[in-house]
Amino acid sequence: MRRVTILGATGSIGQSTIDLIAREPALYDVVALTGGRNVARLAEDARRLRADVAVIAEPDLLDDLRAALDGSGIEAQAGTAAVIEAAARPADWIMSAIVGFAGLAPSLAALDQGTTLALANKETLVCAGPLVMARARRAGARVLPVDSEHSAIFQALRGEEASAVEKVILTASGGAFRDWPLERLKDATPEEAATHPNWDMGQRITVDSASMFNKAMELIETREFFGIEPARIEAVIHPQSLVHALVQFADGALMAHLGAPDMRHAIGHALHWPERRDLPVDRLDLAAVGRLDFAAPDPARYPALALAAETMQIGGHAGAAFNAAKERALDHFLARRIPFPGMAEVVARVIDRMSSQGGLHSAAITVESVAGIDADARARADEAAAALTR
Ligand code: NAD
Ligand code: MG
Repeated sequence: MRRVTILGATGSIGQSTIDLIAREPALYDVVALTGGRNVARLAEDARRLRADVAVIAEPDLLDDLRAALDGSGIEAQAGTAAVIEAAARPADWIMSAIVGFAGLAPSLAALDQGTTLALANKETLVCAGPLVMARARRAGARVLPVDSEHSAIFQALRGEEASAVEKVILTASGGAFRDWPLERLKDATPEEAATHPNWDMGQRITVDSASMFNKAMELIETREFFGIEPARIEAVIHPQSLVHALVQFADGALMAHLGAPDMRHAIGHALHWPERRDLPVDRLDLAAVGRLDFAAPDPARYPALALAAETMQIGGHAGAAFNAAKERALDHFLARRIPFPGMAEVVARVIDRMSSQGGLHSAAITVESVAGIDADARARADEAAAALTR
C-alpha cells in the first residue's frame, strides 16, 4: 500500500485527487488530509478514506472538526503549524494543492522528508523556485508537475535531452473575456470573471485565467521547474483547451500533448508515474473535435504576460513579489474595490517600485527572505489598490 497525503483536500484539485484514490482504496493508505475551512467536507472524506489525521487550517474550527470526527478514531488538528506538521508525516506521495502562498511552507516540509511531491500549487515555484528545487535535491525528493501545461511538457520531454529543446509553448484558453470588447473590461464583475469556457477550477485560478495572470504564473513556473530560459517560453491562445502544451525541438519537431480538459489526467499521471494506468477521463474523438485554433495573445488585453517576462528578467525575489501583488490585487478585485484591469496596474506598480529600490535582487532565496518580500509586496499592493480607487 502506498501512503498518501493530500494538502488542500477540500479544494478542486484535492477533490479530483480523492476521486482517483477512492476508486482503488486497497492501493492507498491515507495519512493526512488538510483543508482550509470546510470542516464537513474534510471530515466526510477523512472518514471515507480512513485517514490517520485531518487538519483544518483555520484554528477556530478545531472543535467543529473534533465533533465531526467523533467516534472515528481519526486525529483532529487545526492551524497553520498543524498543516505543516501533517506535510512532514512520512508518506510516499504527497499532493500539494493548497491555493496561494500558504502552500509554500507545507510543500517544503513535504520535500524535506524526501518523498514524491505532486505539485499543483504553482505559487510554490513562482515565489521560491530555486529554494524549492534545491531543497528537493538535498532531500532526494522528486517533484512531479500537476499543472496541466507542465504535466504536458513533462510528458513531451520524456526521453529527450534538455539541450535539444528549442522552445516550450503553453496554451491558454483566453479566459472569460477573450472575446469581450477591450473597453468593457473595466466593468467586468467577479462573477463574470469566474466562469471558465473549458475548465472547472477553483474561483481564484478561474479569475486568474480571465486576466491571464494564471498563464503568467505558469510561464514563471516553467522556467523554475524545467530550467528553461525565459526567451524560449511562450504562450499561445487555444480556445478549445485540448492541446495543453507543446515542446519544439532543435530539428523543428513539435510535440503536442492533447487530452480532454480534466485535471484528473495530470493528477493521475503524477499519481501513477512512471507507469501509465487507465484513468477515468474522456478520450478525444478527433473527428468530432474537427478543428484546433491558435492565436497570438493581444498584449493590450493580457498585460500580465509582459509582467511575467519582466519578472523573470529581474529574477531573484521578483517572483515572490509578483505572486504576492497578484494575490492581493485579486483580493481587491473580488471585493469590488478595484476594476478588472486594475489588477495588472497594481502588480506593475509593485514590481516597478520594489525593483527600482533594489529590493528584489538579494542573492540567496530563503524561506525568511521570501516571506519578507511577500509581506512587503502585499502592503505595497494594498497601497497601489487604494491609490487606484482614489
Ligand atoms: P481551491 O480554492 O479549490 O482549493 C484550495 C485548497 O486550499 C482548499 O482545500 C482550501 O481549503 C485550502 N486552503 C486555502 N487557503 C488555505 C490556507 N491559508 N491554508 C491552508 N489551506 C488553505 O483551489 P484549486 O483550484 O484546487 O487550486 C489549488 C492549487 O492548484 C492552486 O495553486 C492552483 O493554482 C493549482 N492548480 C489548480 C488547477 C485546477 O484545475 N483547479 C489547475 C492547475 C493548477
Ligand atoms: Mg494550468
